[in-house]
Parts: sequence; structure tokens; C-alpha cells
Amino acid sequence: MQIAQRMSKVSPSATLRLTAKAKEMKSRGLPVLSFGAGEPDFDTPQAAKDEAVRCLAAGFTKYTPTSGIPELRQAVCRKFEEDQGLKYRPENVVISCGAKHSLYNLIQALCDPGDEVLIPAPYWVSYPEMVYLAGGTPVFVETSQGEGFRLSAARLEKAATPKSRILILNSPSNPTGGVLEGEDLKRLADVVLKKDLLVISDEIYEYYVYGSVRHVSIAALGEELQARTFVVNGTSKSYAMTGLRIGYLAGDAEVVKKIGILQDHSTSNPVSISQKMAVAALGLPKSYRTQVRDKFEKRSRRMVGLLSQAEGFKPFAPEGAFYVFCDIAGTGLGSETLCERLLEEIHVAAIPGKSFGSDRHVRFSFACGEKDIEEGVGRVIAWSKRNVNS
Ligand SMILES: *Cc1c(COP(=O)(O)O)cnc(C)c1O
Repeated sequence: MQIAQRMSKVSPSATLRLTAKAKEMKSRGLPVLSFGAGEPDFDTPQAAKDEAVRCLAAGFTKYTPTSGIPELRQAVCRKFEEDQGLKYRPENVVISCGAKHSLYNLIQALCDPGDEVLIPAPYWVSYPEMVYLAGGTPVFVETSQGEGFRLSAARLEKAATPKSRILILNSPSNPTGGVLEGEDLKRLADVVLKKDLLVISDEIYEYYVYGSVRHVSIAALGEELQARTFVVNGTSKSYAMTGLRIGYLAGDAEVVKKIGILQDHSTSNPVSISQKMAVAALGLPKSYRTQVRDKFEKRSRRMVGLLSQAEGFKPFAPEGAFYVFCDIAGTGLGSETLCERLLEEIHVAAIPGKSFGSDRHVRFSFACGEKDIEEGVGRVIAWSKRNVNS
């Protein structure tokens, strides 16, 4: 079969392959503990579930406006104003089928063939593939564990060429757990203005920041920055609604309108019931989010404490999101070999950093019970003492 050229550069996700293998081993009765999860382990809020039941009873099951019901677009505007002081109008907002869909649409709408898209590495697996699908070229800008995985303005400036159009930021970051704040963010903003870049700011983990760290959107650094930034967010990670597929973005009204047209001819509206559930979730009191945050923070400390006892493992204490990105160079193994061995020999699943652009790291998710963390990382410590020469 002749397959379109644009499909030639995209590759299947290694993340999914390993997770599938772990599931298969579990179904055979093996005591697999998985740190692969990319979603919260807690249940969807009751208020959102109640709303779904009401929608079904009322027959709210038909097409909605493609860009989202007005109620949800307004709720999103309120959210941005309350959380970050960012002012948007409903015509600056489009609701999509998950934040992944928002990101895909943005790249389709902004990136021409030949355009360069700057992506800090390690990166979330789908960014480069989305750029390839638009005919663009991803340009990776390295960050390091020693620098808290913060993108350096000097390195960004050096990587930017006249073909660079877009910078993708993801703070808090999946996979690294790094967060951009204060002066670092301001210096990046200066480069964005100087090099005339657009910014896609993926803020899906904004509520998960730990210690004294605060989430700040680059769009909040002034009108000039807000005008060239598209902020992406959604209810998947904040409200444990991954399967319900609600994401949204806010930015320039003209681009937002085009994305509405793109949705008109591709997906049409996101699921009607999910949209109402998102309105309910966005209306939850702040205490809901801080409770979840506190729980994750406790787990993150425990996981980092344990992982640092494993020979050859150097975990980065995350400032945000729900992953520990761990330097494994000291084991003498590549990330894929290490993950295969952990799965086969001690039935522990984690994600090789290679899929995120760093073969010297492995990603451990702490979106799981504390008991699993104790038991699973305990196995890793014991394994490392047997297999790694210190
Ligand atoms: C999970 C995730 C998304 C996408 O979430 P949706 O379920 O599509 O809303 C986007 N960006 C990052 C970095 C993620 O981890």
C-alpha cells in the first residue's frame, strides 16, 4: 500500500509498547508494579460525574458549537483570570478533544513546511511528531539535570534561526518535573521578543507544583507576550478526566477562529457531556486542587528519597508534574535496556528516557499508591545492589 509521505517520519510510541508489555505480564498473574502511568490515579470528581448523569437525563447528547459551549468558554476565561490574572474573551478560547488535540491544531494552524519549531529537550513525546505532521522541523534545545532542566535563554538564542517560528514551553514539564520561574522566564521572554517567536505554552500540570515553587505563565509577563502566546490546558491532569477528552487553548482571536474551522472539518465539537463535566470541574473550590497537590508532593518526596538509595540512580527532585526523571548513567546501561531488565527481572515498569530525547534517564511516575512506591522502588534498590558496581 502506498502511504502518504507525511506518515514516513512519525514513529510509534515506545511508551505505549512498554506499558502494553507490562499489562500483558500482569494479566498472566505476574506481580507487576507500574510507574508508567501518565494520568492521575484518583477518581474523577463527584460533581463532574453528577453533571454527566444530569446531561444524559436531559438529553444533552447532540452537536454543540464546534469551538465549545459558551458556558465552558466563559468558565475557561474565568479560570485564566482567577489563576493567572490573564484576561481573555470567549472568542480567544477554543475547546478541543483533549490538550493533545489543542496542541495538534495549533501546530497545524501556525507551522508551515520548512518552519522550525524550538523544543526544549527532554520533551513530551508528541511535540516532534506533531511538528513533522505539519511539515515543520523540530529543533531541540538541550537542558540538563544540573540546571534543573530549565531552558537557558542563551542556548535558546543560539538555536534560533530566521526560520524559527515557534517555541514550545512545557512548565511544569513532563517528563523532567522542571519548572520555569522568575528571572529565567523573563530572560526567555526577552529572547522570544527579540527573535520574533510565537509561543505554545503547555500548562497542563500547572496545579502540581511543589515546595515554594509557583506556576507562572509566560503569557502573564506582559501584553506583548500574551499577544504572541497560546496557552494550552485541559481537565485531564487537573481533574483526573483523561478519558473524557477536554482540552482548551487561549490566544489570538484570528488563529482561534481558524482552529474552529479546522475542527469544523475534522472532529466537530468535543463530546457534549464532557464539556458540561468540565464546567463542573472548573467550578470546584481551590481546596480540591491543593489537597491533590499535597498528596502528590508527599509521594514525590518518598520516591526521590528511595530512588537516591539505588546504586547508579540519580533522581531529579521534581518541582512540578507527577514524574521523577532519574539519571541512570551510573548503571552503565541505556534507558531501554534498563527498563526491559527491570520489567523482566523484578516486574517494575518505568519509561525509558530515550522516548523523551534522553537515553541517560528513566521516568518514574508517582501517580500511584504509596505502598506501590515503597514496594516497587524497594525492588529497584535491591536490584541495583546486585547488578550495579558502585
Ligand atoms: C497528558 C499531557 C497532555 C495531553 O493531555 P490530554 O489528555 O490530551 O488533555 C499534553 N501535554 C503534556 C505534557 C501531557 O503530559
